[in-house]
Amino acid sequence: MPSKELPERSEIVIIGGGIVGVTLAHELAKRGEEVTVIEKRFIGSGSTFRCGTGIRQQFNDEANVQVMKRSVELWKRYSEEYGFSFEQTGYLFLLYDDDEVEEFKRNIAIQNRFGVPTRLITPEEAREIVPLLDISEVIAASWNPTDGKADPFYATAAFALNAERFGAKLVEYTEVKDFIIENGEIKGLKTSRGVINTGIVVNATNAWAKLINAMAGIKTHIPIEPYKHQAVITQPIRKGAIKPMVISFKYGHAYLTQTAHGGIVGGVGYELGPTYDLNPTYEFMREVSYYFTKIVPALRELLILRTWAGYYAKTPDSNPAIGRIKELGDYYIAAGFSGHGFMMAPAVAEMVADLITKDRTDLPVDWYDPYRFERGELRGEALQMG
Ligand SMILES: Cc1cc2nc3c(=O)[nH]c(=O)nc-3n(C[C@H](O)[C@H](O)[C@H](O)COP(=O)(O)OP(=O)(O)OC[C@H]3O[C@@H](n4cnc5c(N)ncnc54)[C@H](O)[C@@H]3O)c2cc1C
Repeated sequence: MPSKELPERSEIVIIGGGIVGVTLAHELAKRGEEVTVIEKRFIGSGSTFRCGTGIRQQFNDEANVQVMKRSVELWKRYSEEYGFSFEQTGYLFLLYDDDEVEEFKRNIAIQNRFGVPTRLITPEEAREIVPLLDISEVIAASWNPTDGKADPFYATAAFALNAERFGAKLVEYTEVKDFIIENGEIKGLKTSRGVINTGIVVNATNAWAKLINAMAGIKTHIPIEPYKHQAVITQPIRKGAIKPMVISFKYGHAYLTQTAHGGIVGGVGYELGPTYDLNPTYEFMREVSYYFTKIVPALRELLILRTWAGYYAKTPDSNPAIGRIKELGDYYIAAGFSGHGFMMAPAVAEMVADLITKDRTDLPVDWYDPYRFERGELRGEALQMG
């Protein structure tokens, strides 16, 4: 599918062909911009094809709730337009004590203020939504039926194909090796397959973002580190057994749901790193089995088919760095998604395309200000599991 040739020049170059780079290329090309994505392996080969499918608006601050509300609108629009599956089967957070309930009541109030219809429900109502749940210790749940899930393969491919339809070039198996900078301005990029001339570059490499920043000679402190997170898939069971994404902070920061094929997919908060290693570990298997069967005892009967690992590109406040890096002409970053970048991508594409083409956006991009780390202004930690 993607173009083979590296163009000699491109108005805008996006480094990284994950969901973030691809949705941004799609948005820019749709606006009539000349844009090229350079991907060192194949489209989606970074964290994107390794992710847990989840798309939620249940966050704990105004910015992320607004951005995710917009993102869900875009997921809905593009899934219908391009024919990939985005199912609004909801997110169900299981709550086990009064402190958790209070915290989620505060989150729900923020969400409701922006029109996200989350509500606190009883354990019995939660079990009506997922009959296989063990609710013996659950005292309430936070439920938003408009959250959902999408298949990262189909979704990324659909955005990639349509980006190309609008004229974007997607170049695979081409690695960015260096920047060509003259008088503080970007002139081009050196790649493993030659030079591409350009004035505007977006770093959309997530777990590799610090390496690209170093290549660009960026002095600003933007701490993004790769952590190994693992996931699991079981043998398929009856379709519709677990429709929403089910979350339990009590049991290992676990998240689990059922894929379109019927398998149960998910992970827990077991984290290793910083590291670029991606070998799955036995300890993860043990933890995920223990925690998942606490939440849904019937899973004891199921075979685990496969485990794998991917990166969470983490920042100290679990929020990405999105914006223009002023010290180098037209250099932008959209990286450090800390485990929830798949869901954010369509709205991030809109924000970054707005910044590039209009120098402003209606979405609250300041929350993700890449300079906040240097200023010591960390945000409240974004609600994050896994
Ligand atoms: C186990 C697991 C579960 C997850 N679950 C969820 C979830 O349920 N919901 C959710 O929203 N998110 C989830 N995430 C996070 C999500 O996968 C990421 O946030 C998202 O995929 C980031 O997309 P990206 O495009 O920024 O990065 P990536 O997909 O990693 O893309 C970056 C690309 O840059 C390329 N690259 C790097 N260096 C260079 C270079 N020098 N030259 C050219 N190309 C380069 C890489 O090859 C890579 O393809 C999960 C992650 C993991 C690991």
